[in-house]
Amino acid sequence: MNDVPRDPMGRPLTEPTAPSLADDAVLTQPTTAVKDLPIEEWDESTLVLGIETSCDETSAAVVKGGREILSNVIISQGDLHGEYGGIVPEVAARAHVEALTPVIGEALLRADATFWDLDAVAATLGPGLIGSLLVGVAEAKSIAAVLEVPFVGVNHLEAHLYSNLLTHPEAKFPALALVISGGHTLIVNALSDGDYDIVGTTIDDAAGEAFDKVARFLGLDYPGGPEIDRLSLLGNPEAVKFPRAMATESGFDVSYSGLKTAVINHVRKLETAGEAVVVEDIAASFQQAVVDIQVAKTMAAVEYVEAERVFLCGGVAANSGLRQGLGDACAARGISMTVPPMELCTDNAAMVAACATAMIRRGRTTSLDAAPDPNLRLA
Ligand code: ADP
Ligand code: MG
Repeated sequence: MNDVPRDPMGRPLTEPTAPSLADDAVLTQPTTAVKDLPIEEWDESTLVLGIETSCDETSAAVVKGGREILSNVIISQGDLHGEYGGIVPEVAARAHVEALTPVIGEALLRADATFWDLDAVAATLGPGLIGSLLVGVAEAKSIAAVLEVPFVGVNHLEAHLYSNLLTHPEAKFPALALVISGGHTLIVNALSDGDYDIVGTTIDDAAGEAFDKVARFLGLDYPGGPEIDRLSLLGNPEAVKFPRAMATESGFDVSYSGLKTAVINHVRKLETAGEAVVVEDIAASFQQAVVDIQVAKTMAAVEYVEAERVFLCGGVAANSGLRQGLGDACAARGISMTVPPMELCTDNAAMVAACATAMIRRGRTTSLDAAPDPNLRLA
């Protein structure tokens, strides 16, 4: 022990050790030096690293040419927030801090890419939780600054639109998009890249929020959407006739707060009367009401803007009833509906990278001074 060299405080002096990364492939030198690529050279081989930390998913992805997903790593914090029955912003931000760097390393490894292969780094700039957004934006800017490649701050809602373009080669703008998630419910007339017109929205709760609140009331796990979807398959959607509030009869806005209250009142009434509460039937009837409302409003908007295709996207786009209901309505009208696979419906970084690539092609990159905006608007 005595022959170990020590500092004046008696602590052993050890050789500095190399950082222990799972695989040093991440830190190997560039195979191609592509920095400050002129916009006109953004072709099918450009690589963008996307980072998504707006809410409760930590995700990093490498997307080639705006269309090909080389990797898309997603860590969901569902279990962390489950015990609170909803997202706790402080807990979410801390979890992003812990997860983001390993998630980026994993995304590069799976893409068989190094940092130096990247042509740009993108992160969600908003909307979302400020603490969570800050983690992703700070890391993306740091990487972009070190690599001397452009940083692109992406609107999370716009990114959802690109989840359709990413997964359906035939999908293109113009399209009427239903962006439906835990935080948002928007009907968007997407005319072309970057040109969006919001034609309808929720006047109170977002659809996913309604799913989560009803599920919580029914004692189901968080997030509630997938649980209600699962139970709906076992129940009768006609069992309870919940109200279909159409916010305004003529417009394209929706309202979910009254529906949520109707479910709560119905269950309380059953309990007071000592009658059985069949959770499967309530879940199926509630889900059917959401589907009917949202399909009616979306199809009315389709007619209004004379849309020829519909994009379904956002976390609630994973809902089996909505996929079926909106798909059938579009088929009956003779127009196409596209919806991404499940893992690209909920928050993910592949859509962020794809959206950023389209922005770069339009000459739009973001200053390293740009701050995240929790209320960033589309359009
Ligand atoms: P957020 O911006 O809220 O994080 P996401 O796009 O990650 O949105 O979607 C999460 C939301 O999607 C949650 O409200 C969740 O309950 C809902 N959701 C996920 N899967 C389903 C489903 N199968 N049916 C209904 N809602 C779902
Ligand atoms: Mg989420």
